[in-house]
Amino acid sequence: MTDLTNKIPLEVSQVTKTLNKGGFEAYIVGGCVRDLIIGREPKDWDVTTNANPEEIQALFVKTFYENDYGTVGVVNEDVIHETLKVVEVTPFRIEGKYTDHRHPDSVKFANKLEDDLKRRDFTMNAIAYDIDKGHLIDPYKGQEDIKDKVIRTVGEAGDRFTEDALRMIRAIRFSTELGFMINKETSDAIEKHAELLTKISIERIRDEFCKIIMSPNPMAGIVMLQRYGILKYIVPELEEGLGIKQNGDHIYEVWEHNLRALNHSADRGWPLDVRIGALLHDVGKPRTRLWNKEKNDYTFYGHDVVGGKMTSKILTRLKFPNDFIDNVSKLVRYHMFFSDIETITLSAVRRIVKNVGPENVWNLMKVRACDRIGMGRPKEQPYRLRKYEAMIEEAMRAPVSVGMLKIDGLKIIEITKTPPGPKIGYILHALLEEVLDDPTLNTAEYLENKALALINLDEKGLKELGDKGKESKEEAEDKEVGEIRKRHGVK
Ligand code: ATP
Ligand code: MG
Repeated sequence: MTDLTNKIPLEVSQVTKTLNKGGFEAYIVGGCVRDLIIGREPKDWDVTTNANPEEIQALFVKTFYENDYGTVGVVNEDVIHETLKVVEVTPFRIEGKYTDHRHPDSVKFANKLEDDLKRRDFTMNAIAYDIDKGHLIDPYKGQEDIKDKVIRTVGEAGDRFTEDALRMIRAIRFSTELGFMINKETSDAIEKHAELLTKISIERIRDEFCKIIMSPNPMAGIVMLQRYGILKYIVPELEEGLGIKQNGDHIYEVWEHNLRALNHSADRGWPLDVRIGALLHDVGKPRTRLWNKEKNDYTFYGHDVVGGKMTSKILTRLKFPNDFIDNVSKLVRYHMFFSDIETITLSAVRRIVKNVGPENVWNLMKVRACDRIGMGRPKEQPYRLRKYEAMIEEAMRAPVSVGMLKIDGLKIIEITKTPPGPKIGYILHALLEEVLDDPTLNTAEYLENKALALINLDEKGLKELGDKGKESKEEAEDKEVGEIRKRHGVK
């Protein structure tokens, strides 16, 4: 008998113990039991019991209950580990008939644990563990499937997918996350019933899709989605890249190139926006491919612009939040920017920072790295990479200018009652000179007083001060840029 008890945090065993003391059965169940058996760290802890929601709530100090499934959240205060803050306790459930392919017509509480396990999706997710007795309840031989690394539905696969079509994507998601095979009967049923996904809310589909993207080998997951005929209900645009050969430098067709770019982002542990940016960066290629006779090769002019628009459409359809859609579309729209780096000037980098937004520009560099690796090209040479990074930082640096001052020309005109003219500019530069020397002087009060004193100088004297200020400004700029470059180890 597997002894899992010593791997279970006290916060969780306290919950089942409290239920037991109250006279109820209580087990941990589902993903957490599966992960314990595999030796992964559970993401969350679920408890199932024959107590009803009111009985559960009566046993704990702090709980919440705001759903139709009977799930009561038991709150543990003062725990460090995020996964232990809430332990979800759900009464044994049995599900009524499914007529809409997504939810049961009714949710009923059951008396027996066996009924609850029967409604679960896969054998590996239908195991319960009695912490007190140290024993597993595993009527569908989930442990065996875990040992063999097999994903198999509880009961007849076709029936289970017809009840809730999302389970088909979940099978692929678990296969990708865990590196398990989907059993033949189960995968045959996926191919047969794929179309039922049109009945499922796009948000539920998106959430499973994101889990595939965030897994260590998302390429395998997307290949599976495609092979089983499911991808066309999520991102059909990606399939346009199948069989689309590319030009000179590329060894992979568009489809494989996008997937390899995605996998590089996963290898590096990069976040969701970069991963989806990498996956979609060349999504516009199939629609822009043209044969060029002179070059005797294909061209893809405008694929970045078309791809940016397609990305926005795709992510809107998947109901991602607006700022996410905006950021990722920009990553795709501007992914070509760093590809002809030889000719890149600082002002071009400034423009790109303005276009993608300063918060997005480092992600753009990451998508570029994915693009390169996805082409089968070697990693960027470290020196060149540092050079781009220095340029970006240089472009994003706030310029040294009179704009930094806590006073402006208009204010000086107002307080000195002087008409506009060169004198105002000289004063500003003279003030900048002082502030560069001693940044603590950059206060409205000090600068206003100082301006009032300076206005009494004659124009020649003021011009000298102003010119000195300009020189100091240039020196300060050079010094800052020099420091940035030194930090990146480039000249
Ligand atoms: P993860 O570690 O990613 O959270 P999980 O197995 O815990 O994986 P959840 O979505 O949290 O997955 O669901 C918890 C449990 O509820 C599952 O293990 C499974 O037993 C059951 N379950 C979830 N969704 C379904 C579904 N669509 N059909 C049947 N059972 C489901
Ligand atoms: Mg879970």
